[in-house]
Amino acid sequence: MNRPIRVAVTGPSGAIGYSILFRIAAGDLFGPNQPVELRLLSRDTDQSRLRLKGVMMELADCAFPLLADMSAHTDEKDLFDGAQCVFLIGAQPRKEGMDRADLLRANGEIFRRQGRALNERASRDARILVVGNPCNTNAFIAMRNAPDLAPECFSAMMRLDQNRATARLAEHLGLPVSGIEQVIVWGNHSNSMYPDIRFARYRGKRVDNQLDPQWQNEFIQNVATRGGQIIKARGASSAASAASAALDHMRDWILGSEGRCCTMAVPSDGSYGIPRGLMFGFPCFCPGEGRYQIISNMPLTPEVKAHIDKNRDELLKEAQAVSDLIF
Ligand code: NDP
Repeated sequence: MNRPIRVAVTGPSGAIGYSILFRIAAGDLFGPNQPVELRLLSRDTDQSRLRLKGVMMELADCAFPLLADMSAHTDEKDLFDGAQCVFLIGAQPRKEGMDRADLLRANGEIFRRQGRALNERASRDARILVVGNPCNTNAFIAMRNAPDLAPECFSAMMRLDQNRATARLAEHLGLPVSGIEQVIVWGNHSNSMYPDIRFARYRGKRVDNQLDPQWQNEFIQNVATRGGQIIKARGASSAASAASAALDHMRDWILGSEGRCCTMAVPSDGSYGIPRGLMFGFPCFCPGEGRYQIISNMPLTPEVKAHIDKNRDELLKEAQAVSDLIF
């Protein structure tokens, strides 16, 4: 057996955390031969500690052969000590009367602190995925507060948007989802995100010529508002699908995407006119060993460029709103 990989998770007792932990421990992230050690954050309140204790009791009761160890931490530096794989899921939810700017600031404080703690204690080649919203800007804040870690250690999750777009396209075409590739979602994980299916393929063949423009417009709206539709139907926000997307993102990033294109929000390298360092959703290839490459030569139409620019401006505005939290 390999040595256990140290995985740190914030928000472990939340809805997404509760779903992802059991899958990581079952081997859904690193496969059936790779043990893991889980380090889990609890807030410093009796209620939070008790909730996490309950989750850990259930994890123990699963008797997962791959779960080599698990521990609860209230101190973020302890949590991240030597962490190789990090899921930053915990975030303050929007409360009544809060606008997006208030939410940005409230969460900005959390991600500034966590960025600093990661900088001090995480493994130098840690792979850190931010899920907690607003995830692009939270990841940007964490990255900018961790100057001793390479910016490429950080990314934010747009894989749920890609998975949603892929599923809608497969449904529309009446094809199995497994053969669909090259679905891209540009930009910010917000209602402005732009799902782009111009290059989508089914088993290597392009499908864009089978789509009517009316459906495509509905599709874009549908993907962007899917989270709200799920809240309306389920009475709670997407949790299992978000956890699944986080695993997809991290698995492709660390183990490689086997030639498939995947959407990741990563620090821009200047491609497509996005200012360097901005945490932007791009089409990427992951060659393995925790590396990714932004695919920088996708042709853009004026319409797609306008959507990309809109997302760029939105993220620049968000970065401006938290500029005092940035190193
Ligand atoms: P929950 O409300 O179920 O859980 C939130 C978790 O965050 C809890 O564990 C809670 O801790 C923790 N938390 C709350 N406030 C703070 C704080 N101030 N500091 C540290 N931790 C805190 O949320 P979900 O699990 O459903 O969602 C988590 C995040 O993921 C949200 O921000 C959500 O918007 C985002 N999300 C992102 C998606 C994406 O595609 N990028 C998709 C879906 C969701 P405790 O247990 O102590 O209460």
